[in-house]
Amino acid sequence: MIDTTALLHSARQSLAEVFGFSQFRQPQEEVVGTLLSGQDALVVMPTGGGKSLCYQLPSLVRSGTGIVVSPLIALMQDQVSALSQLGINAGCLNSSIPFEQLQETEHLLLTGQLDLLYVAPERLLQPRTLNLLQRTEIALFAIDEAHCVSQWGHDFRPEYMQLDQLATLFPGVPRVALTATADARTRDEIVHRLALTDAKRFVQGFDRPNIRYRIGQKEKAREQLLRFIRTEHEQDVGVVYCLSRKRVEETAAYLCDKGFNALPYHAGLSAELRQHHQHRFLTEDPIIMVATIAFGMGIDKPNVRFVAHLDLPRSIEAYYQETGRAGRDGLPADAWMVYGLQDVLFLRQMLESSQAEDRYKQVERQKLEAMLGLCEITSCRRQVLLSYFGEPEHPPCGNCDTCLEPVPVWDGTEAARKALSAVYRSGQRFGVNHVVDILLGQQTDKVLQNQHQKLSTFGIGKELDKNQWRSVFRQLVARGYLRVDADGHGVLLLNDTCRALLRGDETIQLRKDPRVPSGKGKTDFRSAGRRDRTNPAMRRLDPAEERLWEDLRALRKRLAQEQDVPPYIIFHDATLMEMVIYRPQTEQQMRSLSGVGERKFDLYGDAFLDVIEEHQTAPGQWVSPV
Ligand code: ADP
Ligand code: ZN
Repeated sequence: MIDTTALLHSARQSLAEVFGFSQFRQPQEEVVGTLLSGQDALVVMPTGGGKSLCYQLPSLVRSGTGIVVSPLIALMQDQVSALSQLGINAGCLNSSIPFEQLQETEHLLLTGQLDLLYVAPERLLQPRTLNLLQRTEIALFAIDEAHCVSQWGHDFRPEYMQLDQLATLFPGVPRVALTATADARTRDEIVHRLALTDAKRFVQGFDRPNIRYRIGQKEKAREQLLRFIRTEHEQDVGVVYCLSRKRVEETAAYLCDKGFNALPYHAGLSAELRQHHQHRFLTEDPIIMVATIAFGMGIDKPNVRFVAHLDLPRSIEAYYQETGRAGRDGLPADAWMVYGLQDVLFLRQMLESSQAEDRYKQVERQKLEAMLGLCEITSCRRQVLLSYFGEPEHPPCGNCDTCLEPVPVWDGTEAARKALSAVYRSGQRFGVNHVVDILLGQQTDKVLQNQHQKLSTFGIGKELDKNQWRSVFRQLVARGYLRVDADGHGVLLLNDTCRALLRGDETIQLRKDPRVPSGKGKTDFRSAGRRDRTNPAMRRLDPAEERLWEDLRALRKRLAQEQDVPPYIIFHDATLMEMVIYRPQTEQQMRSLSGVGERKFDLYGDAFLDVIEEHQTAPGQWVSPV
C-alpha cells in the first residue's frame, strides 16, 4: 500500500524548493496525487495551464525515472536544459542525438541517475528501447500531446496508436496522457487507443483570459501587420502564420527589411535550417517567426506576445491552437487576424482538390464554415470559441474586439437580395468579381461576351462600391446563404437558405466594413485591468521601474547567452516582473518570488539582487508577495 499522503507532502515541498512555486494550480495537485497513488490519468488543460508539472513532480517524488513520450524532438534538448537549471537530471532519446550521447543517457538511465527521460514515440517503440526500459525502474509514463493519437486531428502520428503496448508491457506503472486540444470525441479516442479506460479524467476549462482576440478585414495584409507590430509590439516576441510557403518567405523578408528580427519557417526548408530557426526563436528576444502551420506544436516559449494570422486558418481548432501559443506565461497577449474572401476560396480549393474521402471533406467543410462564422460574428468572439469547445455558459468577455468596440451594423436586406439575384440571373456560373461588375453596371469584356448588360440586375447596385459589395458577398458566404463551388473555381452558388431572404420573409443585418483591427483596446504588456488570475502583480510601470525592468532583462540575456540557452530558462518574464514590483533585498525575499527555486537562487540570485540594489534609491520597500 502506497502512503500517498507522505508522497504528496514531499511533492509540495519540491514544488516550492525545486520549482519555486508557492502553490499548485488547478488541477495539478489532484493529478499529482493520482499518479503518486499509482493510478492513470488523462489531463486536458489549456496551453500554458501547467501540464508539465503534472508529470515532472511525481517523477521526482516516486522512485525511478519518469518516461515522457513526446513527438517534439526539436524541443527535447531545451526541455532538458530547462530542467537542469532547476537541478533536475533529465535526458532524451531521439534520432537527432549523437551516438555517444545516447550511450551516456542509457547508462545514466540504467544506473538510476535520471529523474526524467524524454523519448520520441518511434524510438520508444523500438525493441531495443523497450528492452532497455524493462531493465529500468520506471516512475511513470507521460504521453504528451496525446491528441496525436487521433486520426481525425491534423497532428496524427501513427506511432501513437501503438503506445497502448505500454499498458501490457509495464503493468503497475502509472500512465498519464496530456493534451491541450481535445473535444469530447478526441478525448474518448485517447482513452480508447491508449488503453486508459480506468484513468481519472481532469478537464480544465478552455478559456485563455489573457489573450485578446481581434479579427479584421484584409486589405493590404502586410502593411496592416506592420502597423500592428509597430504600434503594439515593437520589441516583442511573436509568431505570424501564413498559409503558403511563398507568403511566409515574402513576409519574413518584408519584416526584416523593416528592421525586425524575423525568420521564415515552413516544411520546404531543410530539417537543419528549420531546427536552426527554431533554436533562434527560442533563444532570441525580440524575434518574430513567420511560419506555416508546420511550426507550432509544443512551442514552449512562454513570452510570445502576439500571434498574427495573415490567412484564415481552416478550422476553429486550428485557430485556437495557433493563437494559444501566445501568452503561455499568463501575461496579456494578442491574437490578431485579417482575412478576406480570397482566403475562403483558397481553402475550399485546397480541400476539394485533396484526395481525402468524402466523409472527411464534409467534416472539413463544416469546420471551415464554423471558422467563417467566428470571423463574421457581431457578438463576443470568446463566447463563440468557448461554446465551440463545449462551454456555452461564459458571459461576454470584455477582452475581444467585438466586446471592446461594438460592431456597427446596417440593414443589408436589400443589398443581399440584389446580390443573390445577380448570382441567380447570371446562371450561378461566375465568381465574385464578375457578379460585382454586373451589379455596378461595368461593361467589361466578360460582361459583354455573356450579354450580361441585358440582365435585369445589371447596374442595380451603384449605391455601394466594389469593396462594399465584396464585403456583402463575403458575409453572405460566411452565413451560408451562398457557397463557393466544389471545384475551386470560385463560382458562387445559391444555397436553399437564401429563399426566405429573396422572398422578403427574412431580413439580414450586415456588419459595416471595412473593419480593420484597430489599435483601440490594444493590450499593454503591463497594463492593469487584465483578467489573469496567476499574476496579480502586473500593472503599468513607472519610469524608474521601467529602467529596472530593462536592466534585469539585460542581465538575463547575458546569462542566457553565456550558456546558449533561451532567456526564459533563466527566469520567466513573470518572475522578473515580480522582482521589479517587490524589489527583494535578501535571499529569503528573493526566494519567495514565483519561479525562484533553490537551485535557481544559487545560480543567479546574487546577480539579480545586485541589479535591484543598484536601483534602490530610497530605503527598502519590500512588500511580501504572499
Ligand atoms: P503547458 O504545458 O500546459 O502549456 P507549462 O507546463 O509549460 O504549460 O506551464 C506553463 C507555465 O506555467 C510555465 O511557465 C510554468 O513554469 C508555469 N507554472 C506551472 N505550474 C505553476 C504553478 N503551480 N505556479 C506558478 N507557475 C506555474
Ligand atoms: Zn468578448
